[in-house]
Amino acid sequence: MRIGVIAIQGNVEEHVNAMMKALEEAKQEAEAIKIKHKGIVPTCDAIILPGGESTTLGRLMEREGISSEIKSAAHAGIPIMGTCAGLVLLSKHGDKQVERTGQPLLSLMDIRVNRNAFGRQRESFEVHVDFKGLSKPFNAVFIRAPCITEVGKGVEILSTYNGSIVAARQENMLALAFHPELTDDARIHHYFLKMIGL
Ligand code: GLN
Repeated sequence: MRIGVIAIQGNVEEHVNAMMKALEEAKQEAEAIKIKHKGIVPTCDAIILPGGESTTLGRLMEREGISSEIKSAAHAGIPIMGTCAGLVLLSKHGDKQVERTGQPLLSLMDIRVNRNAFGRQRESFEVHVDFKGLSKPFNAVFIRAPCITEVGKGVEILSTYNGSIVAARQENMLALAFHPELTDDARIHHYFLKMIGL
């Protein structure tokens, strides 16, 4: 098993470490690798899209030829987890800012994103949120975070904060507005491991 973290920009190392921790806790063997170039996504059993700056990430992934590989993988049922900027990239529909800049989205999940939903109020904050399937609240770290403003029929809402959707799943895809890789609590990584079948 091979889990690939897109390593073009953003908090990559944290995701690799959180994944390794979750694998160890689950007593499962798999490798977590960084993806910088075309050709590696098709060899992976799961993909993580980290946080960062979604415009930059999207443009560089497109230029590298990684975006089309991710789309093919997603359509083939490979589990994909996007956090923060990764959530923005997974979206099919953007807000006015996204439309104005024409930033490339992967358009994989039937969700509309508000790209900097919490950004102007507070740059970053932590709050405990309920997460469907987890028995206790999760300490969610938000950093210039987006939120989901609309979901299509096949999308399951997993978590909300102050009335805004901050986590959702559509079949093999998981989108989080916050950063589970920045806390010691690996429960959401375990949730993703279950999606992979580990
Ligand atoms: N709001 C940022 C963006 O759209 C994402 C911030 C983050 O990933 N921490 O690029």
